[in-house]
Amino acid sequence: MKGQRTCIVCGATYKYCPACDGSKDGETWRFIYDNESCRKVFNIVSDYVNGKMTIAEAKKGLTPLVDGKEFNSYFSDKVGEILAYKETKRRSSKRKAKSE
Ligand SMILES: [Zn+2]
Repeated sequence: MKGQRTCIVCGATYKYCPACDGSKDGETWRFIYDNESCRKVFNIVSDYVNGKMTIAEAKKGLTPLVDGKEFNSYFSDKVGEILAYKETKRRSSKRKAKSE
């Protein structure tokens, strides 16, 4: 079972052996994810969870990545939550002036 890995995002099993596949392409992320879109999904979801990204930004980033894709339970919850977000357009962006 050498080199057998499970993607932490989608749960797919794949083979990656750092010793033989090496870091020749600098693809060290393959240690954790089976492909680059899983890596992006992971980064977006974790930025959102950690408050580094708004849900609107996260949705924008995720939308092109998640088409027909399956995720493990944690990510499918989070992705579902993000994609369910609907942007509300504000008519006016008036700010209440602080007059202290
Ligand atoms: Zn994956």
